[in-house]
Amino acid sequence: MRPFTYTRVDDVATASAAVTTDAVARAVQGPGDTAFIAGGTTQLDLMRDGVWSPDALVDISRLPLNDVELDDGVLVVGASVTMADLARHPEVVRCAVLRDSLLLAASPQLRTMATIGGNVLQRTRCRYYRDPTVTQCNKREPGSGCAAVEGTARTHAVLGVDAGCIALHASDLAVALVALDAQVRLHGPGGRRTIPVTDLHVRADDDPSRDNVLGVGELITHLEIPVPDARSGYLKVRDRASYEFALTSAAVVARVEDGVLAHVGIGLGGVGSVPWRARRAEEVLRGQRASMALFEEAAAAELADAFTVTGTDFKPELARRTLVRQLRDVTEVTA
Ligand code: SF4
Repeated sequence: MRPFTYTRVDDVATASAAVTTDAVARAVQGPGDTAFIAGGTTQLDLMRDGVWSPDALVDISRLPLNDVELDDGVLVVGASVTMADLARHPEVVRCAVLRDSLLLAASPQLRTMATIGGNVLQRTRCRYYRDPTVTQCNKREPGSGCAAVEGTARTHAVLGVDAGCIALHASDLAVALVALDAQVRLHGPGGRRTIPVTDLHVRADDDPSRDNVLGVGELITHLEIPVPDARSGYLKVRDRASYEFALTSAAVVARVEDGVLAHVGIGLGGVGSVPWRARRAEEVLRGQRASMALFEEAAAAELADAFTVTGTDFKPELARRTLVRQLRDVTEVTA
C-alpha cells in the first residue's frame, strides 16, 4: 500500500477546505487523489486490493452529522448516520420501502459501520474494476475498453449502460431514495446546494469514468427524505437470502384512490448503472386504473431498451417480474 497522509476534521467547512486545498496542491505536483473517508467500508477494500491509492485522506467520521430529524414531513438525515441507526428510527420503521432497503443490505456488522452518505456514494462491485491486473476498464483507465462486456457479467447492469461500461450501482438504499423523491444536501468550496438523488449519479453510458457529480471538496451533509403519504415496499431478488447484492430489486411507493393510481414512485435496483428511477413505468401507471395488465405494460415499457450481454440476458425478464410483483403487493391489486 502506498503511503498517504491522514487528517481528522471536526466541522464541515474545514473538511471541504482540507480536501480542496490538498487537491489543488497535489495537482500542481502531479495527479493524485485526495478524498473524504467516513465508515470506509468500500474505500478500504479498494485500497487493500491496490485499485485505489490516495495521496491523502480526510476523515469526516467525527463531523456533527449524526442526527435524524423530522421537519414538516421530511426526514432530514445526517450523512454520518449509520445504516443500522437509520433503520431503527421510528419513522423509518413505519416506512417499509426505506426500512427494508436498509435491512436487506450488506450484513449487520457492515450496517453498523457504513454511513448513509458512503452507501449512496459506494463504488461499483465490478470484479474487473476491482482487479488491478485487468487492464481493460474504462472506469479506471478511460479509453482502455471494458473487460466485463466479453467476460463474466451476471451481476452487471442493463440500463444506463453501453458496450463501454456495464458497471452496476449496487446500493439498495439509493433505489428506495429515488422512489421517494429524496434529495441530497451538498457542501463544497462553492457553497451549499441541494439536488435530487436522481441527479447525483452519472450513468455509465454518459461517462464511465465518473460515478457522481460531486466537485472537488464537495461532500454530502444530509439526505432529505419525504415521508410518503402512501403504501410502499422493497423487494430484493438475490442468489442467497443474506449478505448478497440484488440481482434485481424494486422499490415501489404507491397510493390508490378509488381504484386509480393517484401517486406512484418506482426505483429499480440490480439493473442500472445508477439507482434507476423507472420514469417510463411511472408514466404508464400514473392516473390510470390499477390492474395486473397495467402493471405488466408499465414494467415492459421500462425494460424495453435494456442493453444485455451474455450473462445479463436474464435480467430484463427478472426485473420485469420483480416490478410487477411489487406493484401487486404494494397496491394489493391482483386482477
Ligand atoms: Fe470497468 Fe465498467 Fe467494464 Fe467494469 S463494466 S470493467 S467498471 S468499464
